[in-house]
Amino acid sequence: METVLSISSISKRYGKIQAVNDLSLDIRKGQVFGILGPNGSGKTTTLSIILELLKSDAGRFQWFGKAPSKESRKRIGSVIESPNFFPYLSPVINLKIVADIKDLGYGDIDRVLHLTGLYERRNTRFKTFSFGMKQRLAIASALLGSPDVLILDEPTNGLDPQGIAHIRELILQTASQGTTIIMASHLLDEVQKICSHVAVLSKGKKLFDGEVSKVLAISDSFEVAATDMDSLAGAVKLLPGFLSAAREGEKFLVYFNGVIRPDELNRFMFGKGIILTHLSERKRSLEQHFLELLRDNE
Ligand code: ATP
Repeated sequence: METVLSISSISKRYGKIQAVNDLSLDIRKGQVFGILGPNGSGKTTTLSIILELLKSDAGRFQWFGKAPSKESRKRIGSVIESPNFFPYLSPVINLKIVADIKDLGYGDIDRVLHLTGLYERRNTRFKTFSFGMKQRLAIASALLGSPDVLILDEPTNGLDPQGIAHIRELILQTASQGTTIIMASHLLDEVQKICSHVAVLSKGKKLFDGEVSKVLAISDSFEVAATDMDSLAGAVKLLPGFLSAAREGEKFLVYFNGVIRPDELNRFMFGKGIILTHLSERKRSLEQHFLELLRDNE
C-alpha cells in the first residue's frame, strides 16, 4: 500500500518543553490514522509540522514519497483550528471564498455541502449555525477539491452526542471513498470507533503504533492446563516473549511481553508433545493498554 506520509525522527522544543520527541511514523493510503494522547502530548504540534505551519527542530517528513511541495499541499485538506468563516455570509459564499483562495472552481461546492448535510442551509448566514454545523462546514471546506488526505485536530471537541455522531459518520464516509484520514484525539473511545490505525503519544514520544484491531487483541496473559503440569511448566518458558508463570489451582497463569495468539501457543505445546486441557486468554482492552502505557512512561 502506497505510503502517504512518512515522518522520520522529528523533534520540536518550546524552551524547556520537548513538545515532540524523535517521532517517526508511516501512514499509508486509505488508513484512518489516529494520533492518540492526553492534552499536551504533542499532537497539535505534530500536525502543525506536517502541515508546514511550524518548523521542526530536527527530522524530516515526506508526503507521497517526496519532500513537501506546492503539489503535495494541494492534495491535503485540513481542519486544525476552530472553524473560522465570515459570520454574515452564507456557507455557499464562504466556500466560494475558500475555493478562490485554493484556486479551485465552484463546481465542488454543492457536493461538499451535501456530504456534510449542510445543503439545506446553504443560504443561511454562518453566524446562525450551531457549533456542530460550523465544524461540519470547516470539514466541507477542507474537502473542497477532493483532497487525498484529510487532517483533523480533535474533530469532535465541544460537540454534543448528536454532533459527535454526525462528524464520525462523515469521517467514515470520507474514508470509505478512499481518502486517507489523519486525526488527533485525546479520546480513546473515539479512536476505537473511527480509526483503523493508531499511534499513542505521551510527552511528545511515540509509545506505540499499529492496527487498532491488533492493539485491541493484545493479551498479556493466558490460563493454561495440561495433564502433565510439570512438562507444561517447562515448556511455557520456551515460548517467545515469556515473562512468568504462576500456579492458580489446577492452571498456570502465564504472562507474555508482547502479542501471542492462542493458536500459536496451542501449536507450540502440541509440537512439544503436550496436549492442553485448558487454554483461555485474559484480554486487555485498549483502554487498559493505553493507561498502562501512559503510566509506564511517567
Ligand atoms: P492539546 O490536546 O491540549 O492541544 P496536544 O497533544 O495537541 O495537546 P500540543 O498542543 O502539541 O499538545 O503541545 C505539546 C506541548 O508543547 C505542551 O506542553 C504545550 O504546552 C507546549 N506548547 C505548544 N505550543 C506552544 C507554544 N507556542 N509555546 C510554548 N509551548 C507550547
